[in-house]
Amino acid sequence: MPVNRQVTLADQPVGIPKESDFRVVESPIPNAKAGEVLIRTLYLSVDPYLRARSSGRLPSAQNLTPGEVLAGGAVGQVIESHDPRMAPNDIVEGMLDWQEYATAHAKTLRKIDPQVAPIPTALYALGMPGLTAYFGLLDVCRPQPGETVLVSAAAGAVGSLVGQIAKIKRCRAVGITGSDQKVRYLTQELGFDAAFNYHESADFQASLKQVCPNGVDVYFDNVGGGVTDEVIRSLNTRARVVLCGQTSQYNAERPEMGPRWLDQLIIKQARMEGFLVNQFSARFDDGLRQLAIWLQQDKIRYHEDIVEGIENAPRAYVGLLAGENIGKRLVKVAA
Ligand code: NDP
Repeated sequence: MPVNRQVTLADQPVGIPKESDFRVVESPIPNAKAGEVLIRTLYLSVDPYLRARSSGRLPSAQNLTPGEVLAGGAVGQVIESHDPRMAPNDIVEGMLDWQEYATAHAKTLRKIDPQVAPIPTALYALGMPGLTAYFGLLDVCRPQPGETVLVSAAAGAVGSLVGQIAKIKRCRAVGITGSDQKVRYLTQELGFDAAFNYHESADFQASLKQVCPNGVDVYFDNVGGGVTDEVIRSLNTRARVVLCGQTSQYNAERPEMGPRWLDQLIIKQARMEGFLVNQFSARFDDGLRQLAIWLQQDKIRYHEDIVEGIENAPRAYVGLLAGENIGKRLVKVAA
C-alpha cells in the first residue's frame, strides 16, 4: 500500500517563515467521491501568496490554521475517475492539497496535453504565472512600442515572462532583481535590455537612471516596499503602475511606513492599478493559446527551478521567499 505524505502547517509563521513552521506527515490516501478524481501529484507550484494564507490576516476561510494541509497549484496524473470528463492517465492541473495523492472535483481541473509543451509548463508559462504576466501587462498597462517596461522580481516566474512579453511588444524591457547571476540570466538568456541587482546598488536612483535612461513608462510591481518607493520617483508622465504582488511585505508583522509619494501620481498624471489574474478568467483560453504560440516560436524562454521530493517542500517555500529561485520554483513529487 503506497504511503501518502502531505505537508501541513505546524505553526503560524512569525516574520520570515522557517522550515520548522511546516511538517511532512503520513496519512491515508484519500477516497474520490462521485464527481471527483484521485490524482497522483507530479509537481507542486511554490508561490509567494502561500505566505499570505499563513499570516492570519486574510478572511478566515482563506487562512491556514496549524494542522491544515497546504494547498496550491499542482499538476498530476489521474489514477481513478468518478466523472465522465476525466479518465485514468489524464494529466491535469488545478488547486490541490500538498500531498502525494489528492482528490479534486473533475470540474475544477484543466486537462493538460503533454504534446503541446512539457507538463510543468502548466504551472508556469502556460499556467497561472503566464496568465498573470500576459493580462497584467497587456490589459492593465497597455504598453506601446518603444516604451520602457520595468519589472521587479524580474527573474521570478511572473517577472521573467513580463519582460519577454514586453520585448515581443517591441518595448524596452528592464528588470530589477536580487543577484548578479539573475542579472546575467535576464540580459544574456532572456533578452532583457538591461537589469540591475538592487541588493548591490549603493544608489538606487543612479542604477535606475542607468538602466532606464528615458525614465519608466510602465512599472510591473511584484514586490512593493522600498523598491517601489524608489521607482515611483522615476515615473514618466502618463506612466502606468500595475500592482501584481507585494512580496517584500508578506513577512511583515505590521504595515511598513514609507514615504508618502502619491503626489507623484498627480504630477506625472500617472495611473496605479491592482489586479487579480482571476478577473480575466473568461479569457484564459485566449491567453494560453497566445502564450503557447510564443513558446513554440521560442519567443518565450523559461527556467524551472525544481526542488526534488515532497519532503523538501518546506525548504523550497522558505527559499522562494529568500529569493533563491531563478524562474519558476516547483517541487517535483513524482516522475
Ligand atoms: P517569484 O518567482 O518572483 O518569487 C519571489 C521573488 O520575490 C524572489 O525570487 C525574490 O526575487 C523576490 N523577493 C523575495 N523577498 C523579497 C523581498 N523582501 N523584497 C523584494 N523582493 C523579494 O514569484 P512569482 O513570480 O510567483 O510571483 C511574483 C509576485 O506576483 C508575487 O508577489 C505574487 O504574490 C504575485 N502574484 C500575483 C497574482 C495576481 O493575480 N495579482 C498572481 C500570481 C502572482 P529577487 O531575488 O529578485 O529579490
